[in-house]
Amino acid sequence: MSAVRTTCAYCGVGCGIVAQPGEGRALTIKGDKEHPANFGRLCSKGTWLGETVGLEGRLLHPMIGERRAGWDEALDLVAKRMGDCIAQHGPESVAFYVSGQLLTEDYYIANKLLKGFVGTANIDTNSRLCMASAVAAHNRAFGEDVVPGTYEDLEAADLILLVGSNTAWCHPVIWQRIEAAREAHGAKLVVIDPRRTETAERADLHVPVAPDGDIALFNALLAEMRDRGLLDLGFMDAHCELPVDFLADLSAQDHGVDPDVFARLAELVAANRRMVTLFSQGANQSVCGTDKGNAVINLHLATGRINRTGAGPFSMTGQPNAMGGREVGGLANMLACHLGFSDEERASVTRFWNAPALCAEPGLKAVDMFRAVHDGRIRFIWVMGTNPAVSMPDAGFVREALDRCETVVVSEVIAETDTAKLADIRLPAMGWGEKDGTVTNSERMISRQRTLMSPAGEARADWRIMCDVARRLGYGGFDFDHPGMIFAEYAAMTQLSVDHGKMLDLTAWACCSIEDYDAMTPFRWGGEHPLQGGFSHADGKARIVAVDAPKAAAVDPDFPLRLNTGRYRDQWHTMTRTGLSAKLSIHRREPLVEVHPADADRFGLSDGGFAQVGTRWGASVYRVAVSDGQRSGEIFVPMHWTDLTGKGRTGKLVHPATDPVSGQPGFKNVSATIAPVEPE
Ligand code: SF4
Repeated sequence: MSAVRTTCAYCGVGCGIVAQPGEGRALTIKGDKEHPANFGRLCSKGTWLGETVGLEGRLLHPMIGERRAGWDEALDLVAKRMGDCIAQHGPESVAFYVSGQLLTEDYYIANKLLKGFVGTANIDTNSRLCMASAVAAHNRAFGEDVVPGTYEDLEAADLILLVGSNTAWCHPVIWQRIEAAREAHGAKLVVIDPRRTETAERADLHVPVAPDGDIALFNALLAEMRDRGLLDLGFMDAHCELPVDFLADLSAQDHGVDPDVFARLAELVAANRRMVTLFSQGANQSVCGTDKGNAVINLHLATGRINRTGAGPFSMTGQPNAMGGREVGGLANMLACHLGFSDEERASVTRFWNAPALCAEPGLKAVDMFRAVHDGRIRFIWVMGTNPAVSMPDAGFVREALDRCETVVVSEVIAETDTAKLADIRLPAMGWGEKDGTVTNSERMISRQRTLMSPAGEARADWRIMCDVARRLGYGGFDFDHPGMIFAEYAAMTQLSVDHGKMLDLTAWACCSIEDYDAMTPFRWGGEHPLQGGFSHADGKARIVAVDAPKAAAVDPDFPLRLNTGRYRDQWHTMTRTGLSAKLSIHRREPLVEVHPADADRFGLSDGGFAQVGTRWGASVYRVAVSDGQRSGEIFVPMHWTDLTGKGRTGKLVHPATDPVSGQPGFKNVSATIAPVEPE
């Protein structure tokens, strides 16, 4: 087989890959020099993709309980359990929990089936844990979920602010592009993060903001620009609506940043109009994440630093297809093609799908969905390509919910994830390299993931599995035989987005043939700056949103520390795939709790010893790493290890509190304590 151009399976940078299949399932991976996301660059996870596509640990056959079943028997049973549940308890008793690893075509079918035909919007995604707050902030500010710039803007900027982003580890190819731009034209880099990460180490300025201090910090910057006469009154007059007196009334709020550091930051912001602010999970994974996104966007709108080369707010997504999922309605609070639930938008979607039972209102977001599973309102849940039993906050509760649910269906690549072990029916899904479809990266670039190898065992594409169930339930409109047919239908549907004044427009692909689809090269919808001609609110103006810093929570004497969580460079989510690679295990062999030296003294911890981290929700053991990169009073643990992979079960520790607008959980600022323990 000749080399195949495809897209990396991991993060939202969306790097192009040239994969050369060899003997058996061997692969040689190179960066695609022609792909505009990476121009040939790759990080460690992309480079070692070939180590994670073997048959070890794969789910090869449909399983009913512990018994191997045929596809027909398994699909009949899924359809029967789902149909019975709808008939006896109504459509709201059914839910799908899906993943940013799904391809756009899979996401489209999942949404069409549940929202258009079953009649519930109870479909949410692990992207809720990753970037839902950025989506909500975009919708509030712009009237649509649109990232207003591109990676080229990062390279053209004179000043780059990274907010809540360890870019060097979590989006390494973006980091390589930033580093190259700094070298080429001396762009300044500021990292706003409570931790001194590897990214912060290499910045011109590290701003160690207090946990959840970002809103106060950006409001303070906005007040500073106002006081220096640097607001762009002409831009605001022509393009923005803002609350009366919001800007005039802004005053200093506590962001926990040393005054000298703040002064240097303000000086850089004042001096550089070509400024991009990249924000990521450190901002989004918060109980005030939407306000943080709007605080960032406010600064750009008020100073006219948006919709032009080298200037704009830029939200980085975590997963390879979080953005594609957003486009086809992959969150419980949206319909496909960036549409909402107004009567007019619902009528358009009903007509387009010829939908018999379009859902009337938004469904349950992830945390609320598992609460509904726990208390029996949801009796049938289908989990696709994700591991909520360990990745959700308050994961012990989620595990209990799945354990007591009447029917749990899991479509998975891996046979024994923590979640798959709780399933009644397991369906083998195609993995990366086997499946075929499209993904959208953080800058709205659509690329193909292509088939490189035969499916493992009897694995099938997720879209095909769902279409088979839909037909068994008697629904029309699911007679697809190729992902290109699904993409063409979705592209045609974006006419609804255009009709309702939105920017998402793929109508040029509406009549694409399978050959066109197979030959697709990466392209970006909306061009470089899609909001340049006007924002998506009905009046064409953006909204500056009045946001206020959250009140500092009283310190809980039993849990006096602030727990922060995040990623390691070479692992991905719950390690179901990266954990298979020997090379990717070298960087960090085990999960560490990072502790400031003062806290190590205070709690009697020694570097290299073990400690139990406890919260009101659970406890887990980690090896201690004493580090002055932590702020005193704060500790950090990685998200990756699980019950199946050993110590460090971080999901159990995180509270289920969510942002009131986006429903995104706050993974970054949890009351915790720590105590030394003897190794087991
Ligand atoms: Fe893959 Fe992201 Fe690394 Fe690119 S930066 S190779 S998309 S993991």
